[in-house]
Amino acid sequence: MTLIATVTLPDGTPAVVHQAEQTWDKRLLAQYGRDALCRQVTEELFAIFLCVAGQASSVETLTVTPDEKDGLRVEARALCAAASCRTEAEQYEQQLAARGQEHPETAEARAWAARSHAATTGQG
Ligand SMILES: [Zn+2]
Repeated sequence: MTLIATVTLPDGTPAVVHQAEQTWDKRLLAQYGRDALCRQVTEELFAIFLCVAGQASSVETLTVTPDEKDGLRVEARALCAAASCRTEAEQYEQQLAARGQEHPETAEARAWAARSHAATTGQG
């Protein structure tokens, strides 16, 4: 599930988490390989959100989890402090809140952002 979520970093910086994911079955994996899947998810991550700032940032990660269909599920996340992305994320969350909803993966994305930031800065 793709996601854009507002986060506030431990040092008070307003930022967002971009997240994208894809699942490939065994047949696709055999044909193109796991590296191609990881690459495609990473490209998709920034393409979806038209995020230039995130693309320049090295803060991203790939979580590879086995899928029940003998495939692979790959998640990519990036921490991004671009003002345009922050605006987009705020609007998205306001739209959800107006319907009394929250993206089911928002909490996890925020927890990841805090961990990722701590690992990058050596704080936390
Ligand atoms: Zn961004």
